[in-house]
Amino acid sequence: MAPAEFTVSGGEGTPLEFVAAFLGSRSLLVVTDPGGWAQVSAGLAVGYPASTAVTTSVRVVRFAVLDLRHFSSASSLPSLSDVVGDVVALHDTRAWDTGPVVAALRGLGRPVVLFTAAHTWVAGVDAASVLIGWSAPFVVLGSPVGAGEGRVEDVVWQFRELERRRQVRFTALPSPPVPSDRPVTVMVALPGATEGIAGALRPGGEYEVWVHVGQHPDPLPGDLELRAVLSMNGRPVQAESFVLPAEGASPWVSFPVTTPYASVPWTGELVIYSGVVPVHVQQVVLPVGAGESRAAVRFQLTRTFADLEPLSSRVASVLVLGERALVASGPGVPARVGLDLGSLPHSFPVASGLDPWYGKDFPSFCEDLAALARQGSALYSRLFGSDALADRVRRLGRARPAGLMIASVADSSVPWSLIYDLPLNDGPYRLCASVGQFGPFGAGGEVPAHCPVSDHSGNVLCPFGFWGLSAVLEQPVGPLVPFVSVRPRPFEVSMAVDHGMDRALTERHVTELMSMLPPEVVTSAYVSPSELGRALAGDVMDVVHLHFREGFLDLEEIERWDREGVWPRPHWPSRKPVVVGTSPMPGLVRAFIDGGASAVISPEVAVPQDMAGWVTGMLLARLAAGFSAGEALRLTRWEMLGRGNVMGLAYTLHGGADLRVRPGN
Ligand SMILES: [Zn+2]
Repeated sequence: MAPAEFTVSGGEGTPLEFVAAFLGSRSLLVVTDPGGWAQVSAGLAVGYPASTAVTTSVRVVRFAVLDLRHFSSASSLPSLSDVVGDVVALHDTRAWDTGPVVAALRGLGRPVVLFTAAHTWVAGVDAASVLIGWSAPFVVLGSPVGAGEGRVEDVVWQFRELERRRQVRFTALPSPPVPSDRPVTVMVALPGATEGIAGALRPGGEYEVWVHVGQHPDPLPGDLELRAVLSMNGRPVQAESFVLPAEGASPWVSFPVTTPYASVPWTGELVIYSGVVPVHVQQVVLPVGAGESRAAVRFQLTRTFADLEPLSSRVASVLVLGERALVASGPGVPARVGLDLGSLPHSFPVASGLDPWYGKDFPSFCEDLAALARQGSALYSRLFGSDALADRVRRLGRARPAGLMIASVADSSVPWSLIYDLPLNDGPYRLCASVGQFGPFGAGGEVPAHCPVSDHSGNVLCPFGFWGLSAVLEQPVGPLVPFVSVRPRPFEVSMAVDHGMDRALTERHVTELMSMLPPEVVTSAYVSPSELGRALAGDVMDVVHLHFREGFLDLEEIERWDREGVWPRPHWPSRKPVVVGTSPMPGLVRAFIDGGASAVISPEVAVPQDMAGWVTGMLLARLAAGFSAGEALRLTRWEMLGRGNVMGLAYTLHGGADLRVRPGN
């Protein structure tokens, strides 16, 4: 057989991602990638075929897998016809000619991915084949022009020649598909009926509300234990456990309800919990007297339910539904609490009196900390009443900091990181030894998961009383994102600066930021709001750092970028930056998350602009070093405390606590 000729291009990604991208159009893919084989063949028993699913950034690929090295000839192979998989992955052997096996499988309509050595001649390559090699940092792709035999080695050599002559063409991976949502269905039925009813419900009538989680093409890692919680206005909260099987839909779960006597639309929420975490919230409107039932999704932490495993570490959650919230802290029925703070103060003292290093001396620091703790303690009592939640969070946060989720369907004015769950009344208080140790000029040291001092009796001031310091707090408003990007690219920060900022303060801000990051990772530009849309159009940065006055950017402007195509669709599909603001961003968080950002971190009150550079620098240095977003913000708050600065409690992470910049670090 004569050697085939190839057209050669390169690509950015992994060989398996290109396998996933080519599967629809090619029936033979020759790959030299031991890492890819290790992924495909994990758990394969010697001498047997098996089936496996590999998640790539393009899609999930189901492989039937067989290692030909364990067989002496084609005739000793087990049958592959009933091994499930969209594609057959074979590991080549040099002991015998594997060409007929490959040809036979292709003849049966099963595409083949052949893992082989770079210098092996592969017979039967044709226009429906592709050879995939590696020339750091690129994946090399060879497409045969005619039929013949080919070696990946020759394709890589041809690629390097083109590279030398600067004539390389590059093939982009397709954008990852937006996952379709797993449906959650809510219906109303008469007691004992087997079908739902349409139309209006009788006032004061007995009905059942049925709930069911539908099926989804993405398989679950295993069966999932979930809870459905129904909270209808004016009625006690009800909860039912059920299992969502690894494949298929859940059984129906039903709740008995008695409709109100008034003929009005009766509203409430249906929430699906995984452990203590609300992963799906739907508003339910039941038409009492007149109208039709309605259900609208208000919040999703997941689209598929296949990515919930990391949430099992959370110890409690608050689901903010507007003026009310549901608090879940264990296997019991979530408690409904009111979020009306009435005349309770819930604001930060003006951050004045900072020294040139953004700190305060010990007495002023204690005064600030006590003022915040008094507010936080009053907030805790108002919202949660008893010590039960605090005790549980403290008990479960021993080995590592407790994970607390505030899931927000609607905006609330509660400053969650400020909540102080140790008793602190007006009047004299004593200082826990941790105030001295971790405060300004203290001994410092690694911040433990909980206060090293066990006695917190009486009126005590301790930094571990604040949720923002004791717990890893997260306030997501949409689906969780595990990584900013899964591709191995250098960390990059794009800083956008408002023209109207004080130049001297901006310079100091940048100096502080640059003192904590390698200079080559930051690019910066002065922009107007309309220029900002273009600057943020590309999928090219890990962090968007907005150095703005409050009010510089408004919601209408972001909506315009989306509407007028300034932002391509999908926007930020594969590199989903963390947006870090130096001013409060009320009303903008959801727009950035909807626009593809993985998280938004910003202060809730105005902070000195030069200090904001210091804070951003600490935060980004930790993110770049591989810390999760939740831990990075918690440790930044502690570092600020070490200079006598309490303003770290003013910063909020709108996103998942487990978010990291890249996998594997
Ligand atoms: Zn303490």
